[in-house]
Amino acid sequence: MFSQRIQRVPRSFIREILKVAEDPRVISFAGGLPSPGLFPVKRLEGALSKILAERAPESLQYGSSEGLPALREWICQRYKKRFGLEVDPGNVLITTGSQQGLDLVGKVLVEDSDKVVMERPGYLGAIQAFSLYTGSISQVELTGDGPDLDDLERQFRSVNSKLFYAIPNFQNPSGMSYSLEKRRKVAHLCGKHGIVLLEDDPYGELRFEGEHLPPIGSFGDSFGGDSHGGEGRWAGGHSIMLGTLSKVAAPGLRVGWVVAPDEIMERLLIAKQAADLHTSTFTQHLAWQYLADNDLDEHIEEIRERYRDQASCMVRMLEEQFPDEIGFTKPQGGMFLWVTLPEGCSSTDLFNRAIEKGVAFVPGEPFYADGSGKNTMRLNFSNADEQAIEEGMKRLAGCLKDYLAER
Ligand code: PMP
Repeated sequence: MFSQRIQRVPRSFIREILKVAEDPRVISFAGGLPSPGLFPVKRLEGALSKILAERAPESLQYGSSEGLPALREWICQRYKKRFGLEVDPGNVLITTGSQQGLDLVGKVLVEDSDKVVMERPGYLGAIQAFSLYTGSISQVELTGDGPDLDDLERQFRSVNSKLFYAIPNFQNPSGMSYSLEKRRKVAHLCGKHGIVLLEDDPYGELRFEGEHLPPIGSFGDSFGGDSHGGEGRWAGGHSIMLGTLSKVAAPGLRVGWVVAPDEIMERLLIAKQAADLHTSTFTQHLAWQYLADNDLDEHIEEIRERYRDQASCMVRMLEEQFPDEIGFTKPQGGMFLWVTLPEGCSSTDLFNRAIEKGVAFVPGEPFYADGSGKNTMRLNFSNADEQAIEEGMKRLAGCLKDYLAER
């Protein structure tokens, strides 16, 4: 009865885990949920009243598939402000979360015979999205400052490699970021081998330490872009960027976007029309009004401060309470850190113990397309406050010590 397409797509292990973690007695470091206390409720309420009073017919009517012009304009101004990047609103498509961007790009560019290259470990939602279009997903090892370039070039050389999916800032799941040098080199390698770069950046704004770095897509000359070119400008050509309001405002809005060159945009638009006509006009109006009337940077600063405190609390607990044999990343932003248990350990076994003790995380295995990574795990620090982090990490440390002792 079912298509081959759907039969090869794995279930989202995280969505399953989130069900277990819904028990209010469980302290969850599992989901990738932003802190609910930081949702701009009052300000959204103000924006909501305004659009209903002033623009009810437009905001409740069907809209254009490209998305609300004012919102697309705002997105371009944001790229300009953050990176000095010139992006034309004609190259921006509003999507129903950036997750839809992954699906649309897969639909438009990826054939069954094409290989998609992504990071190892990699974002589960992208593994799922691309699995609908190809059975060939290969992963490139992540080092501390981005992908292993020799491995990346080896994979790009294989004739059917088409697309490289990258999360250069505070990657999900590892929390790692690409150095400036790696960004430049990845851009160069994509250009050299004619690979389309799909750059996903839901977490870049959430940097609480260190310097902001430009997108890979800004290293223009590498991509054979036409109307743009040169560092500091969006490359066009073979570079696509994804963005979202999910982590800087609220994920329930389901407002994301794709920035793509003209030729790709034309096809994305067709796929978008076929998928859902357009993203909800109502939430687009709401989001735009909120952004127009408020200082997003001020709000982001608040998020950064909170996440900085929560991340450092989690790191402190790892340093003080956990056995020396484990390794972990110290992220400079985003929402995750990545733990490596000693070789031979199973984070799934640890998960089963942890859930009994009322603490949840995500075992690393589903982030590896080849079923490896059994001794790794992802911890989220955005959704629990410091008190919950201290308590949850104590419980987790206890479980880990028992597990190691009994192994
Ligand atoms: N990309 C990455 C790397 C993510 O972590 C997420 C959210 N978990 C998404 C895309 C999708 O986010 P949204 O659809 O809410 O924009």
